[in-house]
Amino acid sequence: MVIAIDGPAGAGKSSVARAVAAALGFTYLDTGAMYRCVGLAAAQRGVAPEQIADQLTIELGERVLLDGVDVTEAIRTPEASEGASRAAAEPTVRRAMVAQQQRIVADGDWVAEGRDIGTVVAPDAALKIFLTASAQERARRRAAQIGADVATVLAEQTIRDERDTTREHDPLAPAADAVELDTTGLSLEDVVARVTALVADRKES
Ligand code: C5P
Repeated sequence: MVIAIDGPAGAGKSSVARAVAAALGFTYLDTGAMYRCVGLAAAQRGVAPEQIADQLTIELGERVLLDGVDVTEAIRTPEASEGASRAAAEPTVRRAMVAQQQRIVADGDWVAEGRDIGTVVAPDAALKIFLTASAQERARRRAAQIGADVATVLAEQTIRDERDTTREHDPLAPAADAVELDTTGLSLEDVVARVTALVADRKES
């Protein structure tokens, strides 16, 4: 079974997806980490991301390994976020990542987090959640997480949001059958409770 959690940067996807996976005993899949690895590898090697996307070995778990090297922290810098967003706009990169993601979720129970899980990676997901929050709130959360100031995060976030929603290939948009959840003003516990209740509903029906 796949639970898809999509939405813009800073909507709380990672915290929610991890907590829902833990609550249900499902495995968590962070697809953004894969695009981050591609962006990082491209920057390190000085090549275009589309040239290397299908040659990388990306291992996701407690730690993120890129060709065997631990890049857990390196993929979270602002430069890596920017690189990931650029890499993710390339159709060749998307094709390679989506193929890997579909292989991963083909067996077992998953909570997969990203931008296109409900629309492209797992269109048959048992439950699709589209998490949102106001731009200000998303920037505030991200800034607190990484210890940066809100105005800088908001400016970078606006550029990424714009690129993610207007790119030609698989732009960020809720699936037609996604449940939209605005997390502005809600605690993590509130959001997790709502999502697990929705999963319970789907299991019954
Ligand atoms: O979720 P995260 O911020 O780690 O994702 C990094 C970047 O990867 C996003 O800005 C987005 O451009 C891209 N991404 C994507 N599709 C996904 C996951 C992430 O395009 N399924």
